[in-house]
Amino acid sequence: MRPAQATIDLKALCLNYQLASSLSGSKAIAVIKADAYGHGAVECARALEKETKVFAVAFLEEALELREAGILNPILLLEGFFEECELAQIDQYNLWPVIHSHWQISAIEKAKLLKPLTIFLKMDSGMHRVGFFPEDIPVAYYQLLATKKIANTTLMTHFARADELEIDYTKKQYSAFQEVANKLNLETCVCNSPALLAWPEIKSHWVRPGIMLYGASPFEHPQHSTNQLQPVMTLQSKIISVRTLPQGESIGYGGLYTTNKPSRIGVVAMGYADGYPRHAPNDTPIMVAGEKTRLIGRVSMDMLTVDLTDLPQAGLGSDVELWGKNILASDVALLAQTIPYQLFCNIKRVPRRFTS
Ligand SMILES: *Cc1c(COP(=O)(O)O)cnc(C)c1O
Repeated sequence: MRPAQATIDLKALCLNYQLASSLSGSKAIAVIKADAYGHGAVECARALEKETKVFAVAFLEEALELREAGILNPILLLEGFFEECELAQIDQYNLWPVIHSHWQISAIEKAKLLKPLTIFLKMDSGMHRVGFFPEDIPVAYYQLLATKKIANTTLMTHFARADELEIDYTKKQYSAFQEVANKLNLETCVCNSPALLAWPEIKSHWVRPGIMLYGASPFEHPQHSTNQLQPVMTLQSKIISVRTLPQGESIGYGGLYTTNKPSRIGVVAMGYADGYPRHAPNDTPIMVAGEKTRLIGRVSMDMLTVDLTDLPQAGLGSDVELWGKNILASDVALLAQTIPYQLFCNIKRVPRRFTS
C-alpha cells in the first residue's frame, strides 16, 4: 500500500473547539463546511456532536450528508438556499438557512412549511459579497416576521479583514453591525476564527470558528493567541527511493534544483495530486525521520524530493511529515503563496485515518 496518508487527530479537534468556546464565552458553532476543511465532515461531526450545539456547512447537500450519517444537531447553511424547492428539506431536516436576499424572503412567504424556521439574517457590513445593507435590515426583518413562518432570527455578519491586526476595518464593520442589532434587539453571530483570536473586544451571542478548530492559524505571522491551537491533520508518507548524485545534477521536472555538492536525495510518495502544493519552492521544510530537512526540486503529481545529505540516519522507508504537529501547515502555505485553508481543502486521494 502506498504510504501517503492524512491522520486526523479528533482529540485535538475537540480541544480546539473547547478553546474557541472558552475564548469567546459565546455559543460556538463548529464550522465543518467543505468536508470539514478536508478533515472529513462526518467523522469531525461525530467527534464534536456532544461539544457543540450547532454545526455550520455551506449548503444543503453538505448538511444532508451529515443527516444521512445520523448527526442530529441543528445545521446552519452559511450560503442559505439557492432555489425555493430547497425549503422543503430545510424544514424537514431542521436546518437553519442564512437569509441574504429579498428573493429568499419571497420564497419563504410562498412556502408551505411544517413548522416555523430558525434563520440567520445576514447583514453586509463591509464584506460586500452577500447580505442586506445595514439600512435595509429592519425592513427585511419585519417582512420575515410578517410571513409568520419564522420561529427565531439571529442577526449575523462576516468580517473581511479580521486577520489584519493593524487596521480598524473590523471595528468599523462591527460598529455598523452592532448599531442595527441594538435597535432590533436580536441575538447576534459575528466572529470567525481570526476575529475570535485577535479581537477579544468583539462580542456576539454566537461565534463561527472554522480554521482554528483544525489547529491552524488564520494569520500570516505568528500570534500569541494561536499558540494553544493543536494541529489536527498530519499529512505524512515515507521515503520510497534514495540516490546519491554528484555535484551539478538537476532534479525533477524543469531542473528546478541543481546539486551544489555531492548530495543524497530522497523521493517521497506525495505529490500535487494528493494536495501538496505544486508551488512549494525549494527549501520548504519537511520532516524526515524526526529531523527537519527541505524540499528540493519541483513537486510532481505523485512524488516529491527532499535533501537527505545531512540526514545519514534517514533512508528507504523513513517517515515523512509534510505538515502536522512539527511542520505547520500555515508555514508551508505561506511559502507556497497560499493559506492553510486551501492546503487542507485540497487534500484528496490520500486515505484518511482517524485517531481519538
Ligand atoms: C467559513 C466561514 C466561517 C469560518 O471562518 P474561519 O476563518 O475558518 O474561522 C465563518 N463564517 C462564515 C460565513 C464562513 O463562510
